[in-house]
Amino acid sequence: MRYVIDTPAVPSLPVAGRDERFPVRRVFCIGRNYAEHAREMGATVDASAPMFFCKPADAVVTDGADVAYPQATSDLHHEVEMVVALKAGGRDLDASQASAAIFGYGVGLDLTRRDLQAIAKAKSHPWDVAKAFDHSAPVSTLRPASEVSPNADTTISLHVNGTSRQHARLGEMVHSVVDIVVTLSTLFELKPGDLIFTGTPAGVAALQRGDRFHAELEGIATLDGRIV
Ligand code: MN
Repeated sequence: MRYVIDTPAVPSLPVAGRDERFPVRRVFCIGRNYAEHAREMGATVDASAPMFFCKPADAVVTDGADVAYPQATSDLHHEVEMVVALKAGGRDLDASQASAAIFGYGVGLDLTRRDLQAIAKAKSHPWDVAKAFDHSAPVSTLRPASEVSPNADTTISLHVNGTSRQHARLGEMVHSVVDIVVTLSTLFELKPGDLIFTGTPAGVAALQRGDRFHAELEGIATLDGRIV
């Protein structure tokens, strides 16, 4: 096939212990999946109705690359999150199908232009400009699910310039990974290559140019980077 402009590159993530990379198709995110974070944002969790939004696939920042401070904001926030990568998909998956669809796990930042999100919330507008901007999704190397299995006691944490900002156990998640995949599959036909950001615990705060961040999903993935 020949195209009328240059073909866009396929965004991809490194995979631990493999030469091959994981191609990213879409990026789904769940909001308000830790009650303490929902509270700090002045919201409540509706456990019966999880809330989703998306980022473009090429929002991923990989291989520890510097993250450019984005345009159009003066309040860039970090949200550390476990990232789930899918190797299979489908509609209306059951729990065992959802579990079998998982390729692996990583850790990432759901970077947020909090000032633009506040305006969007006040006007009942969509969150795209707050969430789906360029370079808004730094993600670590993935670890295959065949090697690691996060559980309720696995911790997720974020340090900025060596100071702890966010720390939680995955057991604090309102919706489990399998529940998220099952619910997403009732809304979208999931596909291999899809990534899912699984929500952030409390402690979200601003990042500045020059900040160095260290995100960790205990025993599974680390992500080190810098805002420039
Ligand atoms: Mn988030």
